[in-house]
Amino acid sequence: MLEGLNLSHSAGDGVAKAEERASDEEVRPEIENVIIIGSGPAGWAAAVYTARADLRPLLISGNEIGGQVATTTLVENYPGYDDGILGPDLVEKMQAQAVKFGTAVRIDYVTEVDMEGTSFGVKTASGKSYRAKALIVATGASPRKLGLPEEERLTGRGVSYCATCDGFFFRNKELVVVGGGDSALEETLFLTKFASMIHVIHRRDQLRAGATLQRRALAHPKIEFIWNSVVTALNGDVKLESVTLKNLVSGETRDLPADGLFVYIGHLPNNQLFLGKLASDELGYLVTDKLMRTSVPGVFAAGEIQDHRFRQVATSVGQGVAAAMEAEKYLANLEDRSYPDAEDVRQLTPAALAA
Ligand SMILES: Cc1cc2nc3c(=O)[nH]c(=O)nc-3n(C[C@H](O)[C@H](O)[C@H](O)COP(=O)(O)OP(=O)(O)OC[C@H]3O[C@@H](n4cnc5c(N)ncnc54)[C@H](O)[C@@H]3O)c2cc1C
Repeated sequence: MLEGLNLSHSAGDGVAKAEERASDEEVRPEIENVIIIGSGPAGWAAAVYTARADLRPLLISGNEIGGQVATTTLVENYPGYDDGILGPDLVEKMQAQAVKFGTAVRIDYVTEVDMEGTSFGVKTASGKSYRAKALIVATGASPRKLGLPEEERLTGRGVSYCATCDGFFFRNKELVVVGGGDSALEETLFLTKFASMIHVIHRRDQLRAGATLQRRALAHPKIEFIWNSVVTALNGDVKLESVTLKNLVSGETRDLPADGLFVYIGHLPNNQLFLGKLASDELGYLVTDKLMRTSVPGVFAAGEIQDHRFRQVATSVGQGVAAAMEAEKYLANLEDRSYPDAEDVRQLTPAALAA
């Protein structure tokens, strides 16, 4: 995040050019080797690796081209960019690398996945149908938003959903955090390293977070709790300047000056395509093993669709790479008509993984 910065790039521009090239020049096989669903960091990393393995992957972008990181400004914690890099630029570079090695890109949205039969069927919003021998699911997750009119415009300009990513930009600044669960308090405590003061807005008069976290947060001199309250408006022209609060008991409203707002009211995995088809945990994230295999042989998952712990570009990229390498092995085995681990994988359930 960089406050006040005007984004002149869009990850979508480069992807669109890549798609034009792909559709003009290419005859696609009747059954693809591998289809990658999602164009965030995990999807592009999987594309680079499967393309370099000569698998001619097809990547279907989804509506958020470039994924979550394309919505932020400066990314300072992705290794290799010592001066940082703009989020859209980072994913555009990943995409260029994937296309250079032979990834075909389709700007489209997957509406249906068929996992019956010997290959996987994929249908898209534009009416296209594809089949593939293997799938890499990289549909990510979305931070739950407050749903306020100025929220999107001010994201990356004071509004954030990731303290690990953006906390650094708020040294000696006054912050607001919304939420009352474990992650809200963990992130608030993390933010105390940077902020001068943090106001935690919670809609109830009690926190949902665990007792230890509550104790630490309640005792912290830099943290103030504002109970029974919600944020009803975000104010600021170029960047966030204040939030409007409403007390749910008294009905009173007031403006609270704030340099930054961190929203921690949950994340939602983009799992709708896979409900009832792939094993998922109690929060709806796909369950994978260390080899990024899901509960269906031939379907791999990477990034935030299966990881709600780390939620970083670097970890999503690493998981995308692992999924690609395992997909390659799966396809090699398939060609010999043997997949020794298939039975084990079918047993993969959240309970089996926890055991
Ligand atoms: C504001 C913000 C700032 C951040 N800053 C940083 C940072 O500085 N450093 C850092 O390491 N991390 C940062 N993160 C976190 C980082 O962006 C994520 O960890 C990373 O993008 C996750 O990658 P992913 O590929 O798993 O999923 P996502 O980035 O969520 O991408 C998912 C992709 O799947 C696509 N998709 C979804 N459904 C479908 C469908 N049905 N059909 C086809 N495609 C579909 C979407 O369009 C999207 O392209 C930030 C996140 C946010 C929101």
